[in-house]
Amino acid sequence: MRLSRYFMPILKENPKEAEIVSHRLMLRTGMIRQQSQGIYSWLPLGKRVLDKVNKIIREEQNRSGAIELLMPTLQSAELWQESGRYDAYGKEMLRIKDRQDRPMLYGPTNEEMVTDIFRSYVKSYKDLPLNLYHIQLKFRDEIRPRFGTMRSREFMMKDAYSFDLTQEDAVHSYNKMFAAYLRTFNRLGLRAIPMRADTGPIGGNLSHEFIILADTGESEVFCHKDFVNFDIPGEDTNFDDVAGLKGIFDKWTSVYAATSEMHDEAAFNAIPEGERLSARGIEVGHIFYFGTKYSEPMGAKVQGPDGKEHAVHMGSYGIGPTRLVPAIIEASHDENGIIWPDSVAPFDVVVINMKAGDQACDDACETIYAALSKAGKDVLFDDRDERAGTKFATADLIGVPVQIIVGPRSIAGGEVELKDRKTGARETMTVEAAIKRLAG
Ligand code: ATP
Ligand code: MG
Repeated sequence: MRLSRYFMPILKENPKEAEIVSHRLMLRTGMIRQQSQGIYSWLPLGKRVLDKVNKIIREEQNRSGAIELLMPTLQSAELWQESGRYDAYGKEMLRIKDRQDRPMLYGPTNEEMVTDIFRSYVKSYKDLPLNLYHIQLKFRDEIRPRFGTMRSREFMMKDAYSFDLTQEDAVHSYNKMFAAYLRTFNRLGLRAIPMRADTGPIGGNLSHEFIILADTGESEVFCHKDFVNFDIPGEDTNFDDVAGLKGIFDKWTSVYAATSEMHDEAAFNAIPEGERLSARGIEVGHIFYFGTKYSEPMGAKVQGPDGKEHAVHMGSYGIGPTRLVPAIIEASHDENGIIWPDSVAPFDVVVINMKAGDQACDDACETIYAALSKAGKDVLFDDRDERAGTKFATADLIGVPVQIIVGPRSIAGGEVELKDRKTGARETMTVEAAIKRLAG
């Protein structure tokens, strides 16, 4: 992408309305724009990051055996009357009427709709287990939307729903998602800690919130320091291995971790003082097992091996991609801007032409830009007619992991400079060596 032809509206001043660093940086770098309270457009730079986050979420859901579909944002109130949640949900639900005066709503979540899909097609235990997910916008009329897309009214969610014959099978489905979430957050460059959670309006009896530690987090959390060293399940994790997944779950729930709602002061104080961690955190995911709460009233039943009808055991599993993007920034930035983990960076490399119009600089930049693009890298080429200082500041601000700096003095000797955004380390090498290093 040539920056001169791109749409990346960088703000010169820090936006006053932003209270936390991620919100400030997302506005400054032109990643998002507020359209009305708690409702955002994702501008091209932000969209690139969001897509990369969703790609990782999708890969890990698929790896665990979940199957993607797409359900609509607008739902009929009827389904919610069946489950009894239409009245229970309260003011967070945006209720709408269509031209025939039929009550509709903008979905805050999809348990009812997915249960309706399930009951329409699945009749036998032989078709279980089943886990269906989608990545779709949700609307919750939050009383206090704030911090940009961290807590917005319209937001994106990956929500998965599992269906099993028995509670025992459902717990295995839960453990699959548990392991998939550990892998997902790790690939996003985050250390998320699963914490016992209250089940809230979704209801049920087994639930964990995945929390990342950050000073600006809205939740107060208490946990054992050991979490920092726990191993993440590998790529070769066998999601059909019931005992293996239970082992992962047991390990990750073996030491104390709780949000303030579930906090047990005595249990926490039993941990030696130096190993206690009391901090603030951001909830980036939440998983629930809730048995037959929806399948029973909505008649989602399958025939079991005994020939009888059984209401299926369900779970639901949410991750917030539009919250994860600012959460990653909260965890990874410095005074100059964002520092993207490689896995979600909007571009892999930025090529900085220090002197646009200088033949040798222009030629070297074009060569590098073409070669790295051809190698499948996402390359941003800062070809603008701007001062070098402005370009350096932009590159640092938007946080692309590697900068290739092409200046008239070094290019005369056939050389360019590579700068690592995270460490600031610089290295000089030939154009060919730089291409070889980064094309791999
Ligand atoms: P919170 O406690 O932060 O209000 P929640 O418990 O109501 O969230 P869930 O129903 O568990 O949210 O939703 C699953 C995930 O969706 C959350 O873990 C979070 O990542 C994301 N999410 C929920 N509400 C919002 C929001 N208003 N803005 C952005 N992301 C959200
Ligand atoms: Mg939650």
